[in-house]
Order: sequence, then C-alpha cells, then structure tokens
Amino acid sequence: MALDLVCKMEVDPKTAPAKAEYKGKTYYFCAPGCKVAFEKDPEKYVNAAAHGEGGHHHKH
Ligand SMILES: [Zn+2]
Repeated sequence: MALDLVCKMEVDPKTAPAKAEYKGKTYYFCAPGCKVAFEKDPEKYVNAAAHGEGGHHHKH
C-alpha cells in the first residue's frame, strides 16, 4: 500500500485514482483533488512525511 500524503489515507497503487511524479518518486492519491493539492505544494507534503509520522499509520 502507498500513503496519500495529502489526506494520509492508504491507497492501493494498482487502483489509485490519481498519481503524481515528483523528484523521481511516484506518489499515489485517493482522489484527483488530493493530487491537485499535492502539486500545488509538493515540498510541504514530502517534508511533512519525512519529519512527521513516518512509520505510523493512522486509521480513521
Ligand atoms: Zn487523499
């Protein structure tokens, strides 16, 4: 599973409705709207993922 960095939801890369490439990495999103938010400010989300809740997964 991949993590949607915008809303922190887990998404299956095989069925993800949206994906974006940034600095050679592919990111998957649960919805096109999350991709749009990511592309507006990718650094913010990538940095938050790197410094924030790295290995933890929160289920809501
Ligand atoms: Zn999302």
